[in-house]
Amino acid sequence: MAVVISGKELAKSKKIKMAEEVKAFETIYGRLPHLAVILVGEDPGSMSYVKGKEKACQEVGFMNTTIRKPNTISEDELLAIIDHLNNDNLVDGILVQLPLPKHIHSEKVIQAIRRDKDVDGFHFENVASLYLKQPGIVSCTPKGIIEILDSISYPIEGKNAVVIGRSNIVGMPVSKLLLDRNATVTICHSRTKDLASITRQADILVAAVGKANFVTADMVKEGAVVIDVGVNRNLETNKLCGDVKFDEVEPKASYITKVPGGVGPMTICCLMENTIECYLKHVKE
Ligand code: NAP
Repeated sequence: MAVVISGKELAKSKKIKMAEEVKAFETIYGRLPHLAVILVGEDPGSMSYVKGKEKACQEVGFMNTTIRKPNTISEDELLAIIDHLNNDNLVDGILVQLPLPKHIHSEKVIQAIRRDKDVDGFHFENVASLYLKQPGIVSCTPKGIIEILDSISYPIEGKNAVVIGRSNIVGMPVSKLLLDRNATVTICHSRTKDLASITRQADILVAAVGKANFVTADMVKEGAVVIDVGVNRNLETNKLCGDVKFDEVEPKASYITKVPGGVGPMTICCLMENTIECYLKHVKE
């Protein structure tokens, strides 16, 4: 039987501490941290993510502006909004909810956000900082995964970590963070041969594939720590589920996260942390 690590509870306690800090900030620096979120269109998933971010801002006591625009917005209009927010001294963080409509070049939009307001950590300079071990904003989901491991005081150093997925937003950055903590990291992807033989070596197994029930018990070493990043819709139950077949993997793992309530809430919590980081930089300038 594994210990189920509740990202939801961890995020809750971290947000309570953050709210205390934020209260003090107002007295010290004369204003609150301010996160601006841009939502284009009415995709239900994106709307729900934005709602979660607004709720978290309220919980920690940030100012929050959500700019909602229709799917028909042009790239130039969107870039003009970002330019305006970049130049607004009272805005600390800017987040563009992805995905954007096809006629908009997402990368161009993301890169238009000022590096010191890039709370998602997607700006090229923030990405480069991660790989060069320089100070910068680390993207939220990978950061949250490390905080989950730290919450159980898991000794990452020297452990075999296997990450399934090599995306720029999860697989690659979490692999780098694990490497920086002196794990021996293997990154797997769709062309990996005999995946199960590799995942069975993992002391830490991170699943960031985007396929429901992808990780089965035979792929997991006895006593492994299993972090499930996936957010999928189970077509039979229409409920959210992760990449890990929880019921069969849980008895083999020592620690495991669940979907929902695992990595997701920690991603939002780290977004709040990143906003504070940007805010402190701005108010101390
Ligand atoms: P992505 O960009 O689609 O990347 C998926 C990765 O999985 C790719 O590297 C792909 O390999 C690999 N893959 C696909 N099929 C595979 C297979 N059969 N065997 C081994 N590897 C395989 O997805 P993502 O953006 O990283 O997100 C992954 C999941 O995490 C999604 O469910 C997403 O919704 C979720 N997510 C959750 C949070 C959160 O806060 N909880 C945040 C971000 C993402 P190739 O590179 O070879 O194609």
